[in-house]
Amino acid sequence: MSDTLLSNIPVAYASCREYDVPLIRRQITALFHTLNIGQNVFCGKVILVKPNLVMAKKPELAATTHPAVLQALAEVLAEFAPKKIIIADSAGGPYNLPALQVLYRTCGLSPLDKLPLVELNTDCGFSDVEMEDGQRLRHCHMINPAVQADVCINVCKLKTHGLTGLSCATKNLFGLIPGVEKFEMHATFPQIEDFSEMLVDISEYMRTHTEYIALCDGIMGMEGNGPTHGTPVSSGLLLASRSPYALDVVAEHIIGCENAAIHLDAAAARGLVSRNWQDIPLLFCEDTAEMASYSFRKPASSSGKFLKNLSGIMGGRLAEAFAARPAIRASGCVGCGVCVQSCPVHTISLEKKKQKKIAVIHPEKCIRCYCCQELCPKGAVVLRKNPLIRWIH
Ligand code: SF4
Ligand code: SF4
Repeated sequence: MSDTLLSNIPVAYASCREYDVPLIRRQITALFHTLNIGQNVFCGKVILVKPNLVMAKKPELAATTHPAVLQALAEVLAEFAPKKIIIADSAGGPYNLPALQVLYRTCGLSPLDKLPLVELNTDCGFSDVEMEDGQRLRHCHMINPAVQADVCINVCKLKTHGLTGLSCATKNLFGLIPGVEKFEMHATFPQIEDFSEMLVDISEYMRTHTEYIALCDGIMGMEGNGPTHGTPVSSGLLLASRSPYALDVVAEHIIGCENAAIHLDAAAARGLVSRNWQDIPLLFCEDTAEMASYSFRKPASSSGKFLKNLSGIMGGRLAEAFAARPAIRASGCVGCGVCVQSCPVHTISLEKKKQKKIAVIHPEKCIRCYCCQELCPKGAVVLRKNPLIRWIH
């Protein structure tokens, strides 16, 4: 596909205020119809439905794709007679059957495998994937359902994200990297520019190796300390596109976080999308009059354009020096050790203080990936802004 065509891939928009399965089913049908996606895409195919299951959290907390959206989507897809609909993701942590079962149960997905043609993935294997066109990744491991899929439906959430600015379609496919290998990726790509290019490499692999559709659950979004510890916001919309980047640029605009995501700069530099949302054709479904507009609170780590402008200087070390630092809130820490296991550079330890074990961060090696903050089940990791950045904002 030429660059010109790529930048013209439309985004379809539908209002949807409630997690009501018949209503969502109607709106997903309208979105697919608007984008001319139908029988020819799905009939007889193995469909990967990739939700955002970043960690085991209840659906109402808006960290994960809502099960009502997945049910409605599965019901729409079943009408197109696919071979199989497989719902699969790998959260940040161990990728094994007990962990998947906890994830499905907590995120409200367990009843979905009773639906016709639907399987909740239980295969914890992965495969080696070659990326001939990868700019940072030449090969990586991906979970088996991703490698075996004919069609990929990336059912992302509309959320802010402490590290990348935006957790929507492009970032969501990072979950195809199995379990703790995601932490290794953070260690391999400690600079945000390299990490962002790597995200685009993964996204491009799926976009070019499958019939690809991004579908955003923005019925409830998340503002503030996303992707896991932010505040749910009623945002009342569903978006769909054949381009994850076009969908993300429009999503950034809707939540008032324009130009926040460096991975979208990387995609734009490759000619995959325009960085101006007004260049992207927006198609409204029948009963949707206009685009919503919000001003989502930014994550505590957010530093606006300042760090972004520093990111190319001194190999990113200057930006790193000014980036928000993680710190443990001792009163909230229960010493579970999740942060210790998730730190890609092993710079957190559990230590005994006042008769209880708490996590301690040794900041010298910290690469500011914020995995500890993202995955702490108690929200006991806080991000402290550099005083200069605090003063600027
Ligand atoms: S900071 Fe959070 S993840 Fe780390 S040990 Fe304490 S409670 Fe567990
Ligand atoms: S301490 Fe936290 S932010 Fe720093 S490298 Fe470890 S996981 Fe990442």
